[in-house]
Amino acid sequence: MSIKERINLEIGGDFAQFLDAQMLMLSDRTLIKTVKKRIMEEKKNAEYIYHQVINDYAKKLGASKDQYLSERVADIWDVGTRVLRNLLGLTHSSVVEVPQGTIIAAHDIPPSEAALINPNNILGIATEGGGRTSHTAITTRALEIPAVLGVEGLMNKIENGETVIIDGDRGILIKNPSRGRVHFYEVAKKKERELEKTLSPYCELPPKTKDDRYIDISANIEFFAEFAHAKKYGAVGIGLFRTEFLYLTRRGNPSEEEQFRVYNALAKRMKPHPVIIRTFDLGGDKIVSDYHEANPFLGWRAIRVCLDDLELLKVQLRAILRASANKNVKIMYPMISTYEEIKRVNLIFDKVKKKLRSRKIEFDEDIQVGIMVETPSAALLSSHLTNQVDFFSIGSNDLTQYTLAVDRGNERVSTLFDHFHPSVLYLIKKIIDAGHQAHIWVGLCGELAADPLAIPLLLGFGIDELSMNPASIPRAKLVLRSLTIPQCEQIAKGALDFRTALEVKRFLRRAIHKNFPGIEKVVK
Ligand code: PEP
Ligand code: MG
Repeated sequence: MSIKERINLEIGGDFAQFLDAQMLMLSDRTLIKTVKKRIMEEKKNAEYIYHQVINDYAKKLGASKDQYLSERVADIWDVGTRVLRNLLGLTHSSVVEVPQGTIIAAHDIPPSEAALINPNNILGIATEGGGRTSHTAITTRALEIPAVLGVEGLMNKIENGETVIIDGDRGILIKNPSRGRVHFYEVAKKKERELEKTLSPYCELPPKTKDDRYIDISANIEFFAEFAHAKKYGAVGIGLFRTEFLYLTRRGNPSEEEQFRVYNALAKRMKPHPVIIRTFDLGGDKIVSDYHEANPFLGWRAIRVCLDDLELLKVQLRAILRASANKNVKIMYPMISTYEEIKRVNLIFDKVKKKLRSRKIEFDEDIQVGIMVETPSAALLSSHLTNQVDFFSIGSNDLTQYTLAVDRGNERVSTLFDHFHPSVLYLIKKIIDAGHQAHIWVGLCGELAADPLAIPLLLGFGIDELSMNPASIPRAKLVLRSLTIPQCEQIAKGALDFRTALEVKRFLRRAIHKNFPGIEKVVK
């Protein structure tokens, strides 16, 4: 079986796609021509010249200011090293064969190797190269392997056989840890395992409160392959599919056909549960081209990009609509901040539907359309926006960022980022009330949805759906199943009386401990 077939089978189509990109590099005419020309001119052997040419390519890419392009250096070396190994007739050991209990420290792990990692053997990964959008990061996340990527000077600081701790949650690597540190992490690991054991039965249980109110608990995913995690942890659907990662993990934009294949497969795997596909949220911290802005989060992002590049948007709309023939697909637009934007995008959507109809292409005529309410402007206008949509999904990450004027990715101001800030909570309540007054459902898919401290409050506000990263679902169900709606409503009333996020959190913690004994073990 080829590497690509194996990845396709074990991990999924979108991972196998990057091998297509690598194969393109392999057969790149300019590269081959350059190598041939230099062999003839310089009269040196093929191995030497090939290495030189690959090195030149990698240097040029590495120097690019474009994060996506510079991270593709790993792909170049992956392909190049394989060719060189074959030219030299060498065999090599790979990550597939490492013994159980290994932590891999490497300059970089080639994506084609990363995808073959056996998560049962590998405890953690640390690399010098690679960032958020590198393929290695993507793969380790999908395999649930703790990883710290982009550690400067790692290979000069670490020796084979040394003891290290990989703390993937905090993004830190601890070399030669003291006994105290080891003890701390051993205790933390033990506690985590015990908690996992306590929580595992909740994967199977329905997401209902003690007094029988059903709340959709669904999953946020970034890659097709994560549908397996959503199912494993008991999600009742996909509440947010962040499709921009389809654009970030390959060269060029994905075609309608490529997108259709992913959306269709996802809809089929999740049936009968719904799948909410969000149109691409590019821009902000997710940049594809070498386009840079002074204030990217306030700039050309999400729906603004869509409305400026209608062809790109229409390709995606067609792909989503075709997948909607499965009858469980909904569509959602990110970062709406004006009434005109949603009106305009709805008109375009209607035109795309009309065209499909005329070409007799099947889709769901009743497909639900929703927006992320994640700007203060959309929140304040929410009662007007209801007549354009079938549902709202509150993006609490961006709503917090924009309400508090705190860049969500900036370490310097991170202590100011708090989704329990009273101003954010007012807006959340306002959005839910506006939705319910217009008889549309309202969900929340930011990080707040998975916070045990927030769940009683959101239920008290009347939230209908909570969407979160799959691994948080069992814990959310445990919390949910200990609550009653009247108690949550009481708590929600009290929570709006405060001036600071700290006061709100203190109040919620106390109220939870008093009202819901049993869930304090998951409320920090
Ligand atoms: C949000 O903003 O809360 C959200 C869910 O979207 P993202 O994190 O992808 O911006
Ligand atoms: Mg957002």
